[in-house]
Amino acid sequence: MSVQTNLTAIRNSLPATVTLVAVSKTHPVEAIQAAYEAGQRIFGENRPQEMAAKQSVLPSDIRWHMIGHLQTNKVRLIAPFVDMIHSVDSERLWQTIDREAARIGRTIDILLELHIAREESKHGWNGEELTAWLDTDTYREFTHTRVRGLMGMASYVDDRDQISEEFRGLKALFDHLRQTRFGSEFDTLSMGMSGDYRIAVDCGSTMVRIGSSIFGSRSYPIDSQQ
Ligand SMILES: *Cc1c(COP(=O)(O)O)cnc(C)c1O
Repeated sequence: MSVQTNLTAIRNSLPATVTLVAVSKTHPVEAIQAAYEAGQRIFGENRPQEMAAKQSVLPSDIRWHMIGHLQTNKVRLIAPFVDMIHSVDSERLWQTIDREAARIGRTIDILLELHIAREESKHGWNGEELTAWLDTDTYREFTHTRVRGLMGMASYVDDRDQISEEFRGLKALFDHLRQTRFGSEFDTLSMGMSGDYRIAVDCGSTMVRIGSSIFGSRSYPIDSQQ
């Protein structure tokens, strides 16, 4: 199947209210160009260097979304052009993005990443930690980031009930924070990947991050680092 065929099939299966992020990590610029020519404009990457290298050679109206774990010392590489950072999983990272954005005169859209899976290894806040920290109001000093919503990854399991329970928990927190704290600008709930995006959409996702169903499976170099 071509990238274009895959993209069309996925677009047709998504409600108009759901934004598609095409996750192009590990795939060459030619694959991104093919998706671009098929009308796709938002691409997701998980490594800052890879994203910066691709950004420098691809059309300037592409909107680059950072979806992977981000180290504070890599923020500077992507801050000048990144459109949204989905993976803000600590106060320190949030502050670093805010400072860097201020330094270069930008305001960067961010999502707060929640740990919703039962698996241990995933990054992200848990709901109580996040709400407790938000209650300190410290984040109000961060004037060069705009908190647009939440991101989460469900457990990598076949159990659809478990996946939808995790997504529904994230949706409930999203609704709560929108109503009690952030208001209408907080409009993005990033959940759903190739394997579970239909469940995510049923649970209220507004943004899905889809890679392998568009570009095919990924092969990582042996020496790759997460
Ligand atoms: C790789 C990745 C995706 C896309 O995964 P697929 O299963 O290929 O659709 C989505 N979100 C994050 C955070 C990822 O790292």
